[in-house]
Amino acid sequence: MRIADYSVTKAILERHGFTFKKSFGQNFLTDTNILQKIVDTAEIDENVNVIEIGPGIGALTEFLAEKAAEVMAFEIDDRLIPILADTLRDFDNVQVVNEDILKADLQTQIQAFKNPDLPIKVVANLPYYITTPILMHLIESKIPFAEFVVMMQKEVADRISAEPNTKAYGSLSIAVQYYMDAKVAFIVPRTVFVPAPNVDSAILKMVRRDQPLVAVQDEDFFFDIAKASFVHRRKTLWNNLTNRFGKSEDVKEKLTQALEMAGLTLSVRGEALSIADFGRLADALKDQGI
Ligand code: SAM
Repeated sequence: MRIADYSVTKAILERHGFTFKKSFGQNFLTDTNILQKIVDTAEIDENVNVIEIGPGIGALTEFLAEKAAEVMAFEIDDRLIPILADTLRDFDNVQVVNEDILKADLQTQIQAFKNPDLPIKVVANLPYYITTPILMHLIESKIPFAEFVVMMQKEVADRISAEPNTKAYGSLSIAVQYYMDAKVAFIVPRTVFVPAPNVDSAILKMVRRDQPLVAVQDEDFFFDIAKASFVHRRKTLWNNLTNRFGKSEDVKEKLTQALEMAGLTLSVRGEALSIADFGRLADALKDQGI
């Protein structure tokens, strides 16, 4: 029997008198086939350390701990800590950290792995209300995570993995794909959770690139341009850039020059630009002194 078997989950919840907290995004997985598929997708073995975010009652943690060198699981809800001590008592390679992942000093925390030099993968069924902040927190920590295999709302997974010229493509696609190759691995129906969420989910597999997708002069400026280009999706890139930098003749002249240098027309929309296009555009704007 597994923690994620519906009858076992129910018994654990009852035994500990646990009630779900919606504000923590608590939807627990009760499908062992899906859990097996997640672990297979993440290709975990004894030479990999895993960081899990939000172990809940340990449904995924159990599968991870059986394969990985070690699992470090960050759980915000203190009511779950004694439950996890109970459900995961047979494992000596799991550390549960009772902390908000967004406040955790990950650089320091990962030193607590017995072998901190092993590659680290992030595997999690994320709390959906903070999916994007968590991903950005992990990426910006500058820890060289080998990959992320994470469950999230399907719509967010589509946005992160989107290609140019699609409705889902935007600054989030660029922020993640700049560092990681992102692909939807499989879809998970809402029926396999207790309680069932209102949306379907997807497992997104993100593998770190050896180098960012494009080389740019100034990363912060590049992300700033990407963001500004999607503020009004239906407007042209030109409109969005003049909104961002102003409409003076001087700015317009510089913008015209920069677009020309980047090989872009005045009528193009942000959604048509590849990440390489955004890289060229950001560098050209910098060269123009914008
Ligand atoms: N892994 C479990 C499973 O698949 O059944 C539970 C997943 S549930 C979608 C999300 C989990 O994240 C909950 O246990 C919740 O308490 C926890 N959580 C929510 N916000 C968090 C935060 N900021 N830091 C750490 N854990 C958080």
